[in-house]
Amino acid sequence: MISIGINGIDVDQEPNCCPVCNHLVSPKRTNVVKEIFTDNPINKRFSRFLEILYECPSVKCGHLFLSHFERKSNGVSTKGYYTFTHATPNNFKPRKFDERISKISPDFIEIFNQSSNAENSGLSHVCGMGYRKALEFLIKDYCVSLYSDSSEKIMKMRLMNCIDKYITDINIKECATRAVWLGNDETHYQRKWQDKDISDLKLLIDLVIHWVVSDLMTQEYMQSMQRS
Ligand SMILES: [Zn+2]
Repeated sequence: MISIGINGIDVDQEPNCCPVCNHLVSPKRTNVVKEIFTDNPINKRFSRFLEILYECPSVKCGHLFLSHFERKSNGVSTKGYYTFTHATPNNFKPRKFDERISKISPDFIEIFNQSSNAENSGLSHVCGMGYRKALEFLIKDYCVSLYSDSSEKIMKMRLMNCIDKYITDINIKECATRAVWLGNDETHYQRKWQDKDISDLKLLIDLVIHWVVSDLMTQEYMQSMQRS
């Protein structure tokens, strides 16, 4: 938790990226801080939203942008702190992936980037479902690339059954299984993994990508340099 030193306001984190130039930076906080009182459905005396103006420190950018925060206690009391939700303007830049991933699963890349754009726009309740869907495309397309004869079957299968049956690489299997557990949490009413969130899901998806790319690269070398 970080105190911003004005009106006893605390926030969970400050932005670590500029939404205008999309670079990882430590933005400079200005003194322009506004608590919004008008949008609290429960008690108008307490603020629900907080907006802080930041400046990008990059000499090539230098733009101002607004960071939006929300009090997750829903503003029913003055206690608690604000949680960062998103920053505006949102000049979303799609993430680039290894060419091997683009080749086996272009749909994964499209769904992942749409989810990421939703997340950057503050749509925290829907982006998790998007990441879960992206994961399903990545894993199934990877399995289809390995077992093209079973493609019809793989596409219809439940994702977890597909991982159990077709993924043999232990690193991909362990990471993909955990990504599915967290992905399912994003679509259900109650969370099973209380201490994990979307950042853990994204990290696990990154690990799956890492191991899938490693496996594909290994296969390439095994094919191009056969033992005599
Ligand atoms: Zn910038």
